[in-house]
Amino acid sequence: MTTSLKQALKSHFGFDNFRSKIQEDVVKAVIRGDRDVFVCMPTGAGKSLCYQLPAMLADGITLVISPLIALIQDQVDHLKELNIPACSINSKLPANERHLILADLGSSSPKLKLLYITPEMVASPSFQPCLTNLCSRGLLSYLAVDEAHCVSQWGHDFRPDYLKLGKLRARLPGVPCLALTATAPRNVQEDIVQSLSLNSPLSFVTPVFRRNLHYDVIFRDQLPNPFAHLYTFIKKALALGSGSNGQGCGIVYCRTREGCETVAHQLTKLGILSKPYHAGLKAGDRTEVQNDWMQGRMLVIVATISFGMGVDKANVRFVAHWNLAKSLASYYQESGRAGRDGLPSLCRAYYSPKDKDQIYFLIRQEVIRRQEKRGSVKDTDKAPITDFEAMVSFCLQESATRKTLVTKPHLFF
Ligand code: ADP
Ligand code: MG
Repeated sequence: MTTSLKQALKSHFGFDNFRSKIQEDVVKAVIRGDRDVFVCMPTGAGKSLCYQLPAMLADGITLVISPLIALIQDQVDHLKELNIPACSINSKLPANERHLILADLGSSSPKLKLLYITPEMVASPSFQPCLTNLCSRGLLSYLAVDEAHCVSQWGHDFRPDYLKLGKLRARLPGVPCLALTATAPRNVQEDIVQSLSLNSPLSFVTPVFRRNLHYDVIFRDQLPNPFAHLYTFIKKALALGSGSNGQGCGIVYCRTREGCETVAHQLTKLGILSKPYHAGLKAGDRTEVQNDWMQGRMLVIVATISFGMGVDKANVRFVAHWNLAKSLASYYQESGRAGRDGLPSLCRAYYSPKDKDQIYFLIRQEVIRRQEKRGSVKDTDKAPITDFEAMVSFCLQESATRKTLVTKPHLFF
């Protein structure tokens, strides 16, 4: 099963591997088709694939609900490039094209695999006969509700039309529903499950993507003064306070020793006492810096990723990445050191194309070095590159999504 899934992933989407274990698990759960599925993963984690791959492996059509025509258009264009039969019915569609689509849907074996639609359109009377007809012929494989937090009044993007999806579900008996979102607060999740009448859904929530952590990405090269920007962020994060645990503290991660030294120096100059921590320091000095930070004598530690293993401090109010992490998995692990006490905390990644190119270069060199040493090439050699690409696309997506649609919980701003 796994091999054929991987083959399908490769042949339809060109990917060698699933982006994460959770992405693979969701795909398998959707394909099993015996339960509704709820997915909460951060932007860029690859939620679309969770219904797109099952859609390709099913006989019928997958109906995808998405809130904005612009988002739908992006996805449909992308799928068409991959030669995947996908299209969208929306208010902007010329009548003749709409006619062609409806004709295909009405035929005995429709060619279409993915039909994207806005919630307004799915509720419109003109579309009902087509829908009922597909359902009664058993041709609806899945109902996927993307950006499912739009159903919740707690979220930032509440869309009244999403509330109609509950009724839609009632008219599609036996069609498993998959709800996807990047918005994690529990009340939003509860609204989604209730409004879409998800029936004891299998729930997949990225574990380290915790509800009290607020993620964002800043393009570093576009800032007039990056250090001042970081300083302002730290001030804001530390002002969040820390309940009964006293003053909060934070971690800035840098890729190099020099980076740590520079950032610590700049922050101290701006008025936040901070110290560097990296493998270039004497063991004694390193321990001292760590202790100062652990015991709250110094609030901000500027460290390479050698810092943090086994460090468990409850009141870390922020983790900032001055350079990109090498994979999404490391990013969540490192940023997940914030907010262990469950209180609101900030996770920020500073993105820079130059930084990205450098890290790419280093990772590629490492891959080549390993191949030369072994004298052969393996499929899995590329994994570090794919992993890093996931991190990069998270950053790009995060900032792009922010412009079109706020999909993140704004817990405390
Ligand atoms: P989300 O909806 O979770 O924000 P998307 O579905 O838009 O994320 O996917 C983000 C990016 O990740 C897209 O460019 C997509 O092509 C890519 N992607 C998804 N799955 C994989 C995978 N298994 N391997 C490599 N890239 C992937
Ligand atoms: Mg998405």
